Amino acid sequence: MPTKVRVRFAPSPTGPLHIGGVRTALFNYLFAKKHNGDFVLRIEDTDQNRYVKGAEDYIIEALNWCGIPFDEGPGKEGGFGPYRQSERKDLYKKYALQLIDQGNAYYAFDTPDTLDGHRKHHEAKGKTFIYNWHNRLKLTNSLSLSAEEVQTRLESGEPYVIRFKTPQDQLLELQDSIRGTIKIDTNVLDDKILFKSDGMPTYHLANIVDDHLMEISHVIRGEEWLPSLALHQLLYDSFGWKAPEFAHLPLIMKPVGKGKLSKRDGEKGGFPIFPLTWNESEGYREAGYFPEAVVNFLALLGWNPGTEQEIFDLASLINSFSLDRVNKSGARFDPEKTRWYNHHYLQQKSNESLASDFMPILSGHIEPDQIPDKAYVTSVVGLIKERADFTKDLWELGNFFFQAPTSYNEKAAKKQWKEGTSHLMTQVAQLISDTNDWSSSSLESNIKTWITDRELSFGKIMGPLRMLLVGDLKGPHLFDIIALLGKKESINRIESGIKALD
Ligand code: GLU
Repeated sequence: MPTKVRVRFAPSPTGPLHIGGVRTALFNYLFAKKHNGDFVLRIEDTDQNRYVKGAEDYIIEALNWCGIPFDEGPGKEGGFGPYRQSERKDLYKKYALQLIDQGNAYYAFDTPDTLDGHRKHHEAKGKTFIYNWHNRLKLTNSLSLSAEEVQTRLESGEPYVIRFKTPQDQLLELQDSIRGTIKIDTNVLDDKILFKSDGMPTYHLANIVDDHLMEISHVIRGEEWLPSLALHQLLYDSFGWKAPEFAHLPLIMKPVGKGKLSKRDGEKGGFPIFPLTWNESEGYREAGYFPEAVVNFLALLGWNPGTEQEIFDLASLINSFSLDRVNKSGARFDPEKTRWYNHHYLQQKSNESLASDFMPILSGHIEPDQIPDKAYVTSVVGLIKERADFTKDLWELGNFFFQAPTSYNEKAAKKQWKEGTSHLMTQVAQLISDTNDWSSSSLESNIKTWITDRELSFGKIMGPLRMLLVGDLKGPHLFDIIALLGKKESINRIESGIKALD
């Protein structure tokens, strides 16, 4: 790659970042890091009507949470700022005027009402109104009006927009790193607005000018921007600037059926669609996902390593990532797989760090004076984490380590509790009480020897014993439970359980 790699993530602060937006940011980040380049965040806030307060902070927080911070952007000056388009407002007009001077753009005075009338008129005939070469001379603009008339209108302060004069009869050959060559006939394009009557550029003009001024080498963005590529290429050509390389990422598709993944799919399927909570919508972070899991599953939505490997931390993603392994076709979103990834990353965490995350959850379930010390919680985590997808699952899987059962699974109790069971359990309690070498393995060998000596079946003892200690037939290895609960607590539970079940 000849020039320095500089990529940008250019969201409009119109709301929270959709998970697809995070994927775009991630691919930009990976590409930048792979090539020792810069990852720029540019806030595209030229559309004042759609501006949402808090959205920019949200975007930045989401990138940081994912562990993919930008190198340059708002608050991180890198010599190409400012990085909010609203703060660059004054520099765009001269480029629009340059295009007018060169004959690549023109003033248009058609009022919104007039245009709306044309649109409706066309619709009524089953057609679509397009403002371009075939009708621009019949509309009210600096191509159809005399120079004096245009001057008078401008001087009198009449509202205008500046439109791009799309060339006629050209076959464009556009290049996309993922899709190859895309051919477009310029006659199907409309004369897009570049500059608006409110003195602001539109997305198209500001985006091109900024990518040029910020020396962006590669534009990696969602497929929904592919229809803009022709205009963007034409703008680069008109300015005489070298265009960056383009890569349009495939859409993220619904888990079932056709179409793009939407907020509605998340609500229906019970999975987050935003990285962080936004208003009522719970985010991945708040739902208990680890950022490593989110990054890993997002990376594989549309990119593949060319091998069977599925687990990638950020460093190995940077190492393996390339645009030529990004697919053209949409990537189906699989909520089950996201849980699978979280499960994987949870298993990688140390028991100690999981215990730290679990402690506040625990406080929500039990009285402050019943909260055990960290060492105990850490041991519990070690016994139960294997079945957890999320830190919060640890409560469901291991609540009996923190409180004695107050009820017993009825169905299981019926099956386990027979004539003579309480007598056997009293003996087991005695045996436990007599055990001095307090470890899971000695408890196991003592109790098993005792069972064999009496020619009892293991099931006759183990099931009821588990019921008494846990209240159910669930939980990890029984002797690990006894060892961790301790002698006093185990015996208490056996004794009060016998009373309750008898
Ligand atoms: N502001 C556009 C967006 O919201 C940027 C598209 C692009 O990357 O060119 O996604």
